[in-house]
Amino acid sequence: MAPATPVGEIPSIVKYLHKTFDSNKTKSLAWRKDQLTRLYDFLVQKRELVAEVVSKDNGKSGWEVEAEVIVVINEAAHALEHLDEWAKPIPCPTTLTTLTDHKVETRLEPLGVACIIGAWNFPIQLTLGPLVAAIAAGNCAVIKPSEVAPASEAFLIEWLPKILDSSAIKVVSGGVPETTALLAQKFDIIFYTGSGNVGKIIMAAAAKQLTPVVLELGGKSPVYVHEDANIETAAKRLAWAKTMNAGQVCLCPDYVLVHKNVADKLVKAVVAALKSFYPHAQRSESYSRIINKQHTKRLTTVLDRQKALSHSKVETGGSYDIDSCFIEPTVFSGVHVSDPVMEDELFGPLLGIITVENENEAIGIIKSRDRPLSLYIISESSEVVNKILDNTLSGGVIVNGYLFNMLVGDLPFGGVGASGMGNYHGRAGFLAFSHQRSLLWKRHDFLSEGVQSLAYPTVASNPW
Ligand code: NAD
Repeated sequence: MAPATPVGEIPSIVKYLHKTFDSNKTKSLAWRKDQLTRLYDFLVQKRELVAEVVSKDNGKSGWEVEAEVIVVINEAAHALEHLDEWAKPIPCPTTLTTLTDHKVETRLEPLGVACIIGAWNFPIQLTLGPLVAAIAAGNCAVIKPSEVAPASEAFLIEWLPKILDSSAIKVVSGGVPETTALLAQKFDIIFYTGSGNVGKIIMAAAAKQLTPVVLELGGKSPVYVHEDANIETAAKRLAWAKTMNAGQVCLCPDYVLVHKNVADKLVKAVVAALKSFYPHAQRSESYSRIINKQHTKRLTTVLDRQKALSHSKVETGGSYDIDSCFIEPTVFSGVHVSDPVMEDELFGPLLGIITVENENEAIGIIKSRDRPLSLYIISESSEVVNKILDNTLSGGVIVNGYLFNMLVGDLPFGGVGASGMGNYHGRAGFLAFSHQRSLLWKRHDFLSEGVQSLAYPTVASNPW
């Protein structure tokens, strides 16, 4: 575990970064490309080390660890490939009033010094992903990794100063006191990933200095399974997405609304898929643990409260071991919207299945709750998909799948309403850390003055 950054040092760290930014060094495209290349090369070379570190924190293995690194490698490669094009000023189409002007354009300028605060569930990806965008846009940045993932925090503290320009990129370690001290400093943007409750603290602190924020939050992401869905495939994909990192993924499908005509079939197929993936979940190397005992207890309390209800049935799972932070993948059928599993974001391997009459009832339930980070629609009917798209709002939508939007370079990633504000990934990330500065460059020549003079108050100054 890395020692926490002394709170007294935090103001000078941020001041130092402002000085670096004012030197203009991070604005040059050469600097940005050099930093991104260093990060890319480092992650490609140290993939195994990152995997080791992340699995120490989260007990992840296989594809789940790979995903942690691959997303950042992809982000860096994508930024390197497109940076020249993203950073180019965007010319404004000429109009009658700008006909005589030298230049009318939107310049993409770095905001300045960014504060990036990450969460524990993807401790490398959620700090280095936004860092890629901050660097691509030409900013200085301080990263505050989650103290809940101490091995990853120590890894970032040790390696980032060795590979990146430490006059422009800093890491601050620690928990609430250190984050609070950071938030008291003047930043040009705060990029936060984590729960909505802390998101409110971040936004309140930012408001004191009118600092813009990007908030990448969570929430209960629903799935609607229509009667025409391919149930076998739908169930396998759902079982996979629900148990990736034991459900500790912001995009994790939280609950299912299933059409009454296929409800029994879906429940059976999900149970079968889970059993085929994890015949013995507790012994499976592919199945992660819950991050700590506190979160395990939070989840087992929900599990036990739901289990105690007579109208809902445990279709599979239900066992747990708090000491080893293990919770078996657990599916409840016959769930009601007012049940314990429907209260807060689960962020764990519990799945509640609610039977609905049709897509209209599903839309009603989705609209009655906070706007989710993601919405999953499982159907072969474009009409049904479009009806749900037209009548709901969510951060993103995936039809007939889960999670893979994270790997699509230029799809903006972010929430709406209670699931967050602002986007990143690819160009959206570049824009999140940029200011769109307008430039209107006029001339002092005869023609220009002719146009200008139309605005003058006296007829005498008009050469026409
Ligand atoms: P966490 O406990 O790691 O907290 C996140 C960060 O907030 C940490 O760096 C922590 O130090 C800081 N923090 C915690 N309490 C604070 C306080 N009182 N004041 C200031 N800073 C504080 O992570 P978490 O909040 O448990 O994360 C889980 C949540 O994050 C879930 O809701 C999940 O859906 C969401 N999430 C969202 C995304 C996304 O991209 N939208 C990604 C991952 C997780």
